[in-house]
Amino acid sequence: MTRMRTVQQTVGVIGGGASGLAAAIAAAQAGAAVTVLERLPRVGKKLLLTGNGRCNLANRDRSPAHYHGTVPQANRILAGFDPEAWFREMGLLIRSDSEGRCYPRSMTAASVLDALRIRATQCGAETLCDTRVTDILPQKQGFLLRSDTSSGARELRFDSVIAACGGSAAPSCGTDGSLLPVLERLGHRVVRPLPALCPIPVQSPHLKALKGLRVRCAVTARCGDRALKTESGELQFTETALSGICIFNLSRLAAVHGRSLTLSVDLLPELDAQAVGTLLRTLLTQRGDQPAGDLLTGLLPRRIGEVLLRSCGISVSAPADAMPQQAFGALAGMLRAWEFPVAGLAGFAQAQVTAGGISGQSITRNLESKRCPGLFFCGELLDLDGDCGGYNLAWAWSSGTAAGTEAALFKC
Ligand SMILES: Cc1cc2nc3c(=O)[nH]c(=O)nc-3n(C[C@H](O)[C@H](O)[C@H](O)COP(=O)(O)OP(=O)(O)OC[C@H]3O[C@@H](n4cnc5c(N)ncnc54)[C@H](O)[C@@H]3O)c2cc1C
Repeated sequence: MTRMRTVQQTVGVIGGGASGLAAAIAAAQAGAAVTVLERLPRVGKKLLLTGNGRCNLANRDRSPAHYHGTVPQANRILAGFDPEAWFREMGLLIRSDSEGRCYPRSMTAASVLDALRIRATQCGAETLCDTRVTDILPQKQGFLLRSDTSSGARELRFDSVIAACGGSAAPSCGTDGSLLPVLERLGHRVVRPLPALCPIPVQSPHLKALKGLRVRCAVTARCGDRALKTESGELQFTETALSGICIFNLSRLAAVHGRSLTLSVDLLPELDAQAVGTLLRTLLTQRGDQPAGDLLTGLLPRRIGEVLLRSCGISVSAPADAMPQQAFGALAGMLRAWEFPVAGLAGFAQAQVTAGGISGQSITRNLESKRCPGLFFCGELLDLDGDCGGYNLAWAWSSGTAAGTEAALFKC
């Protein structure tokens, strides 16, 4: 039913994270009376951890290739929003690096949270912390939100509601996916949430020896003979897993394909197979009289070289030129394709984002629920996740702003 709006529209925002604060600012700027309901004692806890405390708040490249999930609406929303201009307008200056990653000029995440908090206050948005929303009840007009607060249960009524409660990654930041069953019960399709942008546990007898080492390489995720995706960058070895940004960007595939995935590490991606053979022969000429353990130290950290040599049956203490021809071939092969079968999935506690959430099928092009008009979604709660590099926060700001603007205009 459409009615003339005579009083100020009330908007409830569930979650005071990145997308919730953006939504609150947009709704308040559009004239609504906005209340942010945050379960933790303060808003923006996760934001302070982003980018190792520096907050990689966006990326200049907002092309669809960096996003995954079932929200086709995202491309239009991302393309129509300029995070740098948005922050500049709030008094926050941005710097970007050669890969297009944007950071606050201060290089501290606290500056980003301050900018958002100051702007939300200037716009008149109110915040209720220690308020965990437990149920969303659509009414004839508007919504009733049930919540647990430090002083007991409380019910609040709003004309429209924005669900900005995030995914299930990093649950210590207040995000445990506990509202998903409520939203599912209201008729929304939920794509199973899985951890993404996280280390990938692998099977290897060598992880203990390699723990703590870092190496620049290219990593290909393979399912049988099929190469699914290759990422380049710095790989880090942990006691149970491979980590680093290139691994984070493959972790969504590990979540989907599980143990049928193998990670193939190319330690010399700048060389083809023939050039690797030539390089090894040159090294043998130069250092053949030395222990084999010295052979690769000009290319790789010593411990990595020793693990490779041992895996090929080469004694690290014997002279390098004593290595059999077969072992030479195996070593050349391993330098280009060192295989690590995936052993399982990291937990949400280790993940930066969630793959999965509310399906794009359940929402309109304006991020409004198809089942409950007046209920809007934004941020990581939706089934949309980006690569590592500022893509997820870019989505949080742009989807929050879109949902906030629409929620303020919604008429019961
Ligand atoms: C360690 C780490 C580093 C990261 N670094 C980056 C980075 O540098 N760049 C980047 O682009 N992305 C980064 N991300 C991802 C990015 O932080 C998230 O994608 C983004 O914060 C999602 O925004 P959101 O608003 O959807 O959810 P969140 O920011 O997670 O906010 C959700 C809020 O809702 C609250 N909440 C949840 N349930 C309820 C409830 N029932 N009632 C009331 N409140 C509730 C939570 O307490 C939380 O405050 C990082 C993530 C982590 C964990």
